[in-house]
Amino acid sequence: MRQRLSSEPDRYRGRRRVPTPPRSRYAAVVTTAFVGAGIVALGANALPDAKSVNPSVLDELKQASVTSQDAAARADSADRATRAGRTDSKATDERDVWLLPLHNYDFKTPYGMNWGKLHTGIDLVAPEGTPYLAIHDGTVTKAGWFGGYGYTVIVQHADGSEAIYGHSSAISVTEGQQVKAGDQLGLVGNTGHSYGSHLHLEIHVKGQPLDPVPWLDERGVNIQLQIEEIYSDVAAS
Ligand SMILES: [Zn+2]
Repeated sequence: MRQRLSSEPDRYRGRRRVPTPPRSRYAAVVTTAFVGAGIVALGANALPDAKSVNPSVLDELKQASVTSQDAAARADSADRATRAGRTDSKATDERDVWLLPLHNYDFKTPYGMNWGKLHTGIDLVAPEGTPYLAIHDGTVTKAGWFGGYGYTVIVQHADGSEAIYGHSSAISVTEGQQVKAGDQLGLVGNTGHSYGSHLHLEIHVKGQPLDPVPWLDERGVNIQLQIEEIYSDVAAS
């Protein structure tokens, strides 16, 4: 089996811009790390810290090896279909793609007690006007002013969880709109109760906020290290 991931770096640069995420979790995991201006791709076993490899990813790789022959047979056509923008899929797989909301930011304030109050999300500092993106497919349930959150977008995902994107300078979506992981939702700003231009990202499960860092990590996104794992439908060897 060809090792296409390392020989075709343009694949995921291109994929990163494609609004429709890859269709299948079979086969390889592509880890794309945004480090400074450069884009560095790491294989799973090239990660700097073995602890950072999500056990569920390893399980999926195991499953992938079982199904890779089947997946390999479909990989080329599936990939073409993905890039052409599939519309026929019920693809539960697509909903499993989770991405970073920004390509570059400073991870500023974690979830937890802060100034005697619970900070219910994480703060990602980026210049005013920086586009921010949906971390996952879902439905826009709020797009407008939201008290101390300022201009805010809330996206509800198929699993019932919600992502809240606060303090926007502008909003690019409307309520009721369906979005895909990677779609632009708005622009980073400093509206509402905000100390400077940043994205406040909050995750609610069953209506309650939780720490987005471990929760996203379980979904292949290390928001502190700015790493997202993109599941490719290219078969691994
Ligand atoms: Zn915040």
